[in-house]
Amino acid sequence: MNLTEIKDKPIYPIRTAAELLGISVHTLRMYEREGLILPHKTEGNQRSYSQADIDRIECIRRAINENKISINGIKTIYSLIPCWELVHCSEQDRRNCKAYLGHTEPCWTYNHPNTTCENRDCRECEVYTNHSSCGEVKELIRKISGN
Ligand code: SF4
Repeated sequence: MNLTEIKDKPIYPIRTAAELLGISVHTLRMYEREGLILPHKTEGNQRSYSQADIDRIECIRRAINENKISINGIKTIYSLIPCWELVHCSEQDRRNCKAYLGHTEPCWTYNHPNTTCENRDCRECEVYTNHSSCGEVKELIRKISGN
């Protein structure tokens, strides 16, 4: 197993994840309800978090506590990630996609029937995994615009 696979392995139950982050289980669940985080679910439907999940939530916490960005603000930033450039969906998909048309919710919070994302696992998708911080979102936009 390489380092990335180790970091992505869901190993922490919700209580342990909350303890590691110094936050309550309630807050962790709220981040999930708001669509900021997609925890792994076990066969018994128990949430399980990887080190990559912990790092992502720490990044979200810094945005909230240090940069004073609200949860709605973070959702808006995530909603601006140009996912269509990364998954190369068709014009037809874009016309029908709430994520493409909207600007308040991250793409992974929507259902995507009859589109290229229909059967993709958002937790494994680079749109979700690679852009948890504002810096990463900006770097992506720079790359796409060729600057
Ligand atoms: S698979 Fe999920 S995270 Fe990836 S672009 Fe589609 S909706 Fe967004």
